[in-house]
Amino acid sequence: MKKRTAVYPGSFDPVTFGHLDIIDRAAKIFDHIIVSVFVHSSKKHMFSVEERVAMLKAALKGKKNVTVDCFEGLLVDYVKNKKTDIVIRGLRAISDLEYEFQIAATNRTLYPGIETVFFMPRQRYTYLSSSIVRDIAHFGGDVSKLVPPHVAKVIAARK
Ligand code: ADP
Repeated sequence: MKKRTAVYPGSFDPVTFGHLDIIDRAAKIFDHIIVSVFVHSSKKHMFSVEERVAMLKAALKGKKNVTVDCFEGLLVDYVKNKKTDIVIRGLRAISDLEYEFQIAATNRTLYPGIETVFFMPRQRYTYLSSSIVRDIAHFGGDVSKLVPPHVAKVIAARK
């Protein structure tokens, strides 16, 4: 049987329990998930690409069918390069829908064979985003309910 690989792209600045929830769901359905950090040099990030990749790798250690990577340029080119046509994205609230539809539709225009598959996280992660984590971190708040322990440690060390 053909192995189904799917790419889960994002900024992951930093990885949260919401991202990990989506990865767990996707990993039950697809044979191999490539979680890939999008390298966007003009965007300001809290963590470098190397740090974001390292935090993801630590969070996903032991998950046999999940690998971590990074990419620059168009997602459609990256996906083709990985010999797949499946993209994973997460949908939190209705507010995500417009942005996600725009990206999915644009990717489909560029690469008609591409399929974007959306997963819904468990309710408690519906309002969780990396930017909320960054905001709490900025003011020295406790992020331990939102990110894995090693990420909370890296955040605490930044203060
Ligand atoms: P962006 O690509 O906008 O920088 P992220 O890197 O934070 O966003 O997220 C990548 C993907 O994961 C997006 O599809 C986003 O909607 C989804 N995502 C982020 N946080 C959560 C969450 N708490 N629950 C479900 N999906 C999420």
